[in-house]
Amino acid sequence: MQPFTYESHPTRVVFGDGTIRQVRDVCERSGMRRPLVLSTPQQLDQAEVVAGYLAGMGVGIFDGAVMHTPVDVTEKARAFAETRGADGLVAIGGGSTTGLAKAISIRTGLPQLIIPTTYAGSEMTPILGETKDGLKTTRSDSKIRPHAVIYDVGLTLELPKVLSATSGLNAIAHAAEALYARDGNPIIALMAQEGIAALSKALPEIEASPRDPAARWNALYGAWLCGTCLGSVGMALHHKLCHTIAGSLNLPHAETHAIVLPHSLAFNAPATPDAMLMLQKALKSTDAIEGLNLLTSKLDIPRSLMELGMREYDISDAADKAVLNPYWNPRSLSRDFAFELIRRAWAGEPARAIN
Ligand code: NAD
Repeated sequence: MQPFTYESHPTRVVFGDGTIRQVRDVCERSGMRRPLVLSTPQQLDQAEVVAGYLAGMGVGIFDGAVMHTPVDVTEKARAFAETRGADGLVAIGGGSTTGLAKAISIRTGLPQLIIPTTYAGSEMTPILGETKDGLKTTRSDSKIRPHAVIYDVGLTLELPKVLSATSGLNAIAHAAEALYARDGNPIIALMAQEGIAALSKALPEIEASPRDPAARWNALYGAWLCGTCLGSVGMALHHKLCHTIAGSLNLPHAETHAIVLPHSLAFNAPATPDAMLMLQKALKSTDAIEGLNLLTSKLDIPRSLMELGMREYDISDAADKAVLNPYWNPRSLSRDFAFELIRRAWAGEPARAIN
């Protein structure tokens, strides 16, 4: 029995298949009359579909969203929004496009409607990571949290298999760390278990059959729950480590999460027995770490940080950075343990206890 604090957040969430057709209505409910649509160049076709459903209400499309939310792109998009007289933002895409909407919104106060097409979960959080002159900074502010989210399963059917698997594991990472968060609570623990259960069932099914609508539904449902966990409680070692490694070596975000996750959880396992029990149940396994190893083994994803381009001599520097700025974690991390954890992820070994 532990005392807890629970805070709910007022984002309107519409979930289903074909829900994109409600975009005009959801915009109006959020007070928008002249929304600007945001996307990456790769998803311009989906942005045009959104603009179609806005039925003349939209003031244009800015399709310049890119990874890591560079400030110069944000400034360009903000100027475009201003020129067009936009009074709101509709972002369709993954965490990168959501990041652009958040970055414009925090500078202008414009309301945001996010239509996520990956499982990364950024749409449910008040967190924004931005880059300027190659440096990444992250901040959290309740004003960054999007006003409304439309989850449309149909938009995820074409999400490439690797991005499905890696962004799905990125989502599982949010929920797994929520299970032992310092400011955790029973509601978030329930959401975390349900999210992990839904995604861990769906991801191997998507691997076998990417257009399976039931699997896609489950995965997106799980992603919503896991994103809610990230947006509600604090994260620990796993997120800090991925932030440090991916940020300093410019490694891809979701892939880095997918590879590091079983190792960081294996390190924290001795200090988090209750969380491991919940995790193993959600994974339908007899052991949480074996369950994660088995899940990742079923997915066709990069297995090691080496495959992502990290060099062996980068391990030492990454270990130094991992222990440089102390942060809360259920188990304290020495430099030797950090080195060993990162080395195993670099080599692509199966996760096991680190003692
Ligand atoms: P992404 O947004 O970078 O997308 C990768 C590529 O896939 C893009 O070209 C995109 O257009 C394309 N794509 C996305 N959905 C598609 C679909 N359904 N069909 C076809 N192509 C599609 O990838 P991501 O993993 O969603 O996001 C990663 C970024 O999000 C990172 O920068 C990360 O830092 C950030 N992130 C932020 C938070 C937060 O709370 N602030 C949480 C998670 C991730």
